[in-house]
Amino acid sequence: MTPALSRAAACGLAGCQICGRVSPVALRRCPRCSSRLHLRKPASIERTVALMIAAAVLYIPSHLLPIMTVVELGDVSENTIIAGMITFWKEGAYPIAIVIFSASILIPFLKIVTLSWLCAAATGRVHPSPTVLGRMYWFTELLGRWSMIDIFVVGIVVSLMQLGNYMTITPGPGALAFAGVVVLTMLAAMSFDPRLLWDRLNELSAAPTPNPRNPTA
Ligand SMILES: [Zn+2]
Repeated sequence: MTPALSRAAACGLAGCQICGRVSPVALRRCPRCSSRLHLRKPASIERTVALMIAAAVLYIPSHLLPIMTVVELGDVSENTIIAGMITFWKEGAYPIAIVIFSASILIPFLKIVTLSWLCAAATGRVHPSPTVLGRMYWFTELLGRWSMIDIFVVGIVVSLMQLGNYMTITPGPGALAFAGVVVLTMLAAMSFDPRLLWDRLNELSAAPTPNPRNPTA
């Protein structure tokens, strides 16, 4: 059995979030880059949950309200994200429809669900195994790398639809709500401190767990 190693946090040491240097947290600021030092991000879970709730609230109008208003030869039509995706699908532009579905519907939804689950795990409301927790965190990091694809898709759609003087496109209220979802989920991911997950695992491994097959053990 390997001896338990003392943890940096227990010794009052914190890693800088910007440059990675480990310094005494009593210094308050990193001696190398002057950014703030703290053992864990202050109110990380509370901030993340608040931002996730705001993102979830905006997620509904981002799909129900028109994302763009198209004026074509005097005809005015309003399109939601889902209607635009269906139009591309019906016209045979399957890759564009799939990219729109992934970027605007699936990825924001998965970001909200996985971050909420990680918050629940960090606060002890769910009790995953370390392997499951590690995989979920890896998945959340993977989603984070694709977070800018949402904005990329809006750029593609607008550039595809720009047809000079024959057609005028103006963003609708759905675009504002959608931009809100993208920004809020990014801020929520930045607010979450993953070290809270490993703290929780350390607490669980330190606490004596009763064996259901042998309660006396
Ligand atoms: Zn630093």
